[in-house]
Amino acid sequence: MAQQVGTNLTWHEGAITREERQACLKQKGVTVWFTGLSASGKSTIAVALEQVLVNRGHAAYRLDGDNIRMGLNKNLGFSAEDRAENIRRIGEVSKLFADSGLITLSSFISPYVSDRDAVRALHEEAGIDYIEVHVDLPLEVAESRDPKGLYKKARAGEIKGFTGIDDPYEAPAKPEVKLATHEMSLEDCVAHMLKVLEERGALST
Ligand code: ADP
Repeated sequence: MAQQVGTNLTWHEGAITREERQACLKQKGVTVWFTGLSASGKSTIAVALEQVLVNRGHAAYRLDGDNIRMGLNKNLGFSAEDRAENIRRIGEVSKLFADSGLITLSSFISPYVSDRDAVRALHEEAGIDYIEVHVDLPLEVAESRDPKGLYKKARAGEIKGFTGIDDPYEAPAKPEVKLATHEMSLEDCVAHMLKVLEERGALST
């Protein structure tokens, strides 16, 4: 994990509290962290969930693996070290977005338990709600979907260190939610997430 390099830093408090921001948006900020194999359905579910939330008048925003790697994290690759830094940065960004009052939908393979636990700890320390969602399915099903042709390339040795093929996916032991996308429809997954957000009190103040 990254060390604090800068010195002489003091946290500068604002004049507006998190509660005041939430009252303004009529919802509570939360990070919904989707983790799972490539092609498990993280992005598809986040896109559909964001659409339903915004259509219902909620402020929601997606942070997505490839999109972030094309911008903020364009200098990072897929070594264990770079994967850790990728998740650390996006964990910090998710925390800030959720603190601002947004329902933040973060979709990242995030294969290592230690990296995910660090993101959870970051939210817990800040008193921000955090929902880990394991988008779960057998590797064979993910591989048969292969919407971007990545598994095919990984099997052919054209991509090294691909999660599930020659790099591990460490499944969460106790995720808040598990979505088995080989057994549940997309609509069921979205409906389930709406119920979870409602139960957690995120959709009102
Ligand atoms: P990831 O973001 O996890 O890499 P994607 O969302 O890009 O995965 O791709 C998942 C693929 O699986 C899509 O082609 C999607 O249409 C399909 N799919 C089938 N069933 C489901 C489901 N229940 N939930 C989400 N995606 C599903």
